[in-house]
Amino acid sequence: MTTTLPSYDDVVARYEPVIGLETHVELGTRTKMFCGCPTDFGGEPNTRVCPVCLGLPGSLPVANKAAVEATIRIGLALNCSIAQWCRFARKNYFYPDMPKNFQISQYDEPLCVDGYLDVEVNGETVRIGIERVHLEEDTGKTLHVGGATGRIHGATESLVDYNRAGIPLVEIVTKPIPGAGALAPEVARAYVTELRDVIRSLGVSDVRMEEGSLRCDVNTSLNLPGEEWGTRTETKNVNSLRSVERAVRSEMLRQASVLDAGGRITQETRHFHEDTGDTTPGRSKETATDYRYFPEPDLVPLAPDPAWVAELKAALPELPRLRRRRLQQEWGLSDLDMQSVVNAGAVELIEATVAAGASPAAARKWWLGELSRRANETGVELADIGATPAQVAELQSLVDAGKLTDKLARTVLEGVVAGEGSPTEVMTNRNLEVVSDTGALTAAVDEAIAANPDIAEKVRSGKVAAAGALVGAVMKSTRGQADAKSVRELILERLGVQG
Ligand SMILES: [Zn+2]
Repeated sequence: MTTTLPSYDDVVARYEPVIGLETHVELGTRTKMFCGCPTDFGGEPNTRVCPVCLGLPGSLPVANKAAVEATIRIGLALNCSIAQWCRFARKNYFYPDMPKNFQISQYDEPLCVDGYLDVEVNGETVRIGIERVHLEEDTGKTLHVGGATGRIHGATESLVDYNRAGIPLVEIVTKPIPGAGALAPEVARAYVTELRDVIRSLGVSDVRMEEGSLRCDVNTSLNLPGEEWGTRTETKNVNSLRSVERAVRSEMLRQASVLDAGGRITQETRHFHEDTGDTTPGRSKETATDYRYFPEPDLVPLAPDPAWVAELKAALPELPRLRRRRLQQEWGLSDLDMQSVVNAGAVELIEATVAAGASPAAARKWWLGELSRRANETGVELADIGATPAQVAELQSLVDAGKLTDKLARTVLEGVVAGEGSPTEVMTNRNLEVVSDTGALTAAVDEAIAANPDIAEKVRSGKVAAAGALVGAVMKSTRGQADAKSVRELILERLGVQG
């Protein structure tokens, strides 16, 4: 069925979106959630397994304390209340990559509830309610081989790798977010971005969306103003921040076209396609009763000591939003300037460059200017550009010391990014240092005067502006490695003219 989608402006003028986000974060604990198997990524298939994570009869799980601690810290950072007593639950469903045929999760007794996260959208603070933060275990991975697409359709066989089965997962569920209107896609993206930064600041996960350690499902529904919320769909496979935004937008457009045609929205999961930016239906959504939840009988309840929770709370690091505010003040930036630093992913880089001795203005100039431009051109993250904050600080110190002009510094930076060594090494090896040896510079000036007697005469007779041609000649003969201002002063001095 091909239908023409209405325009986005038209959709938000007539419908109100309600969104919600469920985010899974793989914790970076050393061992799995309920056994001692290692969690490192990339081992030979089925080598990081044991009777517990394979669900063999008679094996008994034991909860990983580090995972419980990490979950409580996430809950505290999201302003949640921490349960004084709660239990794990069995979520029953059959799936080949889940060896036990149930997943140990949490159901009606989550570890953390009722918090919020403040995010900035277009300079406004939006408070996103957090419904719950709970702890569960990951499934294994199924690989479909023999087909062209890697999907089950057309495959000749399916292989299962249980290395990931049992890795601790934290699920963070927002409360429904109504009222965002046309900004709903941006609010969704801002939330996932901020959540990622908060979790990264806690050091409990590497939160890399592209590697799957942070995965996001996006719920979207539309309703007419003043009417009840519509039926929601859940979009899966959203693997980048940009996709979070695109997925909400595309689902809003699709649902509007269904509703406009007098249709109904089916409650279902949908798959997001990175290439086309649209979604296709998956399975119709199970309700909680389909999972036949019941308290996990093989595990004791969790009862975190309030004194321990208070200790964890007191030891939380400075959270990203407050840290950005502090840095903005220290660096003397406007909201708009700070926003461009944040958008460029340069906060940490500039902070480290300043710590290495550069001024905030200089650090910002290099990271947002030359280096951002290169990152965009080559399609790499700014942090992976090949220059470190220490190197950028060193480059600036060479400029400050008069050894490099701005132009030469950019050439040196090129060499640093290309892996030719530190700024000082590149400057020396490529012989790029500003000619500061007065003798050499005087010789170059005298040579230029001798070669251009007419111009020299003009300058002598008071036409000081004509000196520009001589400056150009000296810059040329020193291959740009002289400071133009000093050259000009020296020319006037040699010609006996006051500058
Ligand atoms: Zn195991």
